[in-house]
Amino acid sequence: MDEPRSPGPREVSPLISALRKILPEGFRSAEPMRLHTSIRIGGPAEVFCQVNSTDEWQRLWEWCQQAGVAWRLLGGGTNLLVCDHGLPGVTVRLAGTLRELRWEGDRVLVGAGAGLARLVKEATGRGMAGMEFAAGIPGSVGGAVVMNAGTNHGAVDGVLEEVTLWSQDEAVRNVPAGELGLGYRSSRLQGGRQVVFAARFRLRPGDPAEIDRRITAQMKERRLRQPLDLPSAGSVFKNPPGDYAGRLIEAVGLKGFRMGDAAFSQKHANFIVNCGRATAANVDALMQLARERVRERFNFELEPEIRIWR
Ligand SMILES: Cc1cc2nc3c(=O)[nH]c(=O)nc-3n(C[C@H](O)[C@H](O)[C@H](O)COP(=O)(O)OP(=O)(O)OC[C@H]3O[C@@H](n4cnc5c(N)ncnc54)[C@H](O)[C@@H]3O)c2cc1C
Repeated sequence: MDEPRSPGPREVSPLISALRKILPEGFRSAEPMRLHTSIRIGGPAEVFCQVNSTDEWQRLWEWCQQAGVAWRLLGGGTNLLVCDHGLPGVTVRLAGTLRELRWEGDRVLVGAGAGLARLVKEATGRGMAGMEFAAGIPGSVGGAVVMNAGTNHGAVDGVLEEVTLWSQDEAVRNVPAGELGLGYRSSRLQGGRQVVFAARFRLRPGDPAEIDRRITAQMKERRLRQPLDLPSAGSVFKNPPGDYAGRLIEAVGLKGFRMGDAAFSQKHANFIVNCGRATAANVDALMQLARERVRERFNFELEPEIRIWR
């Protein structure tokens, strides 16, 4: 799905020139964020870069502080809507040592930049049970922790032991999962001012055939229920207690409803799919419409699950 990048010289932003003195390589200016989001939407990030270690992050952050430059941390971009006019400052992704994975008996320490799918695959390969709920959830381990990603088969908070967390005031420290305020698709980490560098999960030995069977069944269920053939950011709204956001959206007549190239999926009304060249404005308008109609009809305020970067 990646669109080809335009050839020819890129304009080098003054930010990049300054940043090259801090970190040696890997910067891009005016990087289209649609290339880095699963819904394939998003204007240009002024500067896009990767950090390979906690030291690199610290240097980059100190530079941002001194220069008064905004920063944002991107995981896999699978739960994100980035606005059409793009992002000022530096958008950062974790790479290098921040994607490493190390097993210690029934525990695994995973860099937050690693893919969640890789963790599921490794756990399955080792016959370790507990991560099956995450089969088919795209994105990074860091994003999964921040979102407390999960399904009705379980969520991150069921297996997470602690995280290695960076914050401006306390530098890097290990924080037990119990202190992260993990709830239904929520955590205290969603303010965007902290960075998860790594997460430690505790799994349990299981029967490999049984783990495999559970994963296969869940993937089948996913393919049946979710519009995986079109770009999306997963569920747009959180489910109300005891109900489903998709049911409410369908009940107010919006299943399949389209604005521009964005539409509430015919297969799963709580997914907004990009049918071609959808914009963030299209998605925003659909979300607003759903919220209004559901508020009017059910006196209920739908809460976005996706993160919106304006
Ligand atoms: C087809 C599809 C199916 C999906 N199914 C599910 C599902 O079943 N269950 C579910 O829960 N979700 C699902 N999602 C949503 C999404 O995959 C999850 O929320 C995922 O955990 C987000 O991870 P990410 O790395 O892509 O985060 P991103 O979208 O990149 O970021 C999400 C938020 O986390 C922050 N963040 C990311 N990494 C870090 C870090 N290391 N430190 C600090 N902050 C960070 C970002 O700043 C942002 O605020 C689905 C999405 C798609 C496209």
